[in-house]
Amino acid sequence: MDVHWTFLLVPPAILYFSYRPGQGLVTEAMTWYAAIAILLFLFVLVHELGHALMARTRHVLAERIIIFPLGGGAYLPDRPQRRLDEVLIYSAGPLANLLLAAVALPILLAQSNGELILRGFLNLAGNFVVEPSLFDQLLGVTVIVNVLLALGNLLPAYPLDGGRILRAVLRGPFGERPATVVVTVLGIVIGLALIYVSYLLGDPLLGLGAAFIVTMSVVTFRDGWQRRRLAAYPIEHVLRTNDGPVMEQRIYVGTPTREAVALFDKTGWPVLPVYSQWNQLSGFVAREVLEEEDPKAKGLIGEVTELEFISAHPGENLLEVTERIVDANVYGAAVYGERRRLVGFVFTEDVMRVLGK
Ligand SMILES: [Zn+2]
Repeated sequence: MDVHWTFLLVPPAILYFSYRPGQGLVTEAMTWYAAIAILLFLFVLVHELGHALMARTRHVLAERIIIFPLGGGAYLPDRPQRRLDEVLIYSAGPLANLLLAAVALPILLAQSNGELILRGFLNLAGNFVVEPSLFDQLLGVTVIVNVLLALGNLLPAYPLDGGRILRAVLRGPFGERPATVVVTVLGIVIGLALIYVSYLLGDPLLGLGAAFIVTMSVVTFRDGWQRRRLAAYPIEHVLRTNDGPVMEQRIYVGTPTREAVALFDKTGWPVLPVYSQWNQLSGFVAREVLEEEDPKAKGLIGEVTELEFISAHPGENLLEVTERIVDANVYGAAVYGERRRLVGFVFTEDVMRVLGK
């Protein structure tokens, strides 16, 4: 579990809110805000543990949990393959909050003025006749905040839990792409509506959260659009063919780095193939890596060659190849045609060009 560095902002925030002009720091206020901060931390932790425990129950790897002052995230390295798993895992967080509220509610109602506190929080009653104890007030906070956390997270807006649940449900009948379009568009619409509500309520924290929802939805929507664009192109569209100077003046693992720079200048390629002494492709070398080298150093290309790369077929579409390049974290792909003949290369820069970056 990671606690995000922004938690360092919490103590100064408590001091700021506890300061009254003329009175200095008010101890009661400090106790109150510190208690609220600790409770919020616990509620978010319970929420994320709900996700993580359900993931474990469904045999989906939950890598780690990050807790922010205003929310958290349980990170799943792989999205669950089965839709039921996805629905259950993303429901478990809000469910954990509802459970906590359900436990706190009868305890609160058992207090002498429990019902009054609840009405107070729901703004149904006016002022408290008697000042309730700190414990009773915190019980009230526990009920109300957990219900709000559960309902808020169940809004059908990406990237909230509700949006992810809806996407998993729609993924079955409509497919991944339309499902993602629906929940990200809902994320933008609901997020903008929440920004307006935060303006009406004068609540900057709600506004911040809503802005996050809009941003994430826009990013994911764009990502989906770019994926569709890549999928439309066959790899030939960006293939750098293995001929011309790259073929004639090929660089070997034993080539001095100075000589390789000349070939970079001649071809204008960002990355070049490097061959073994037996004329087999060994790997790739990037121009930017050579530029970081000391120009007076008498190194050989083999020392700066990235040996890992992926292989692709000319018939593959650009999306498939790009995903494999990104997953393997390499410069690019060697493209092999019939009878394993090396026909050319595709580098990350070529994908960027298609996306107009
Ligand atoms: Zn959640």
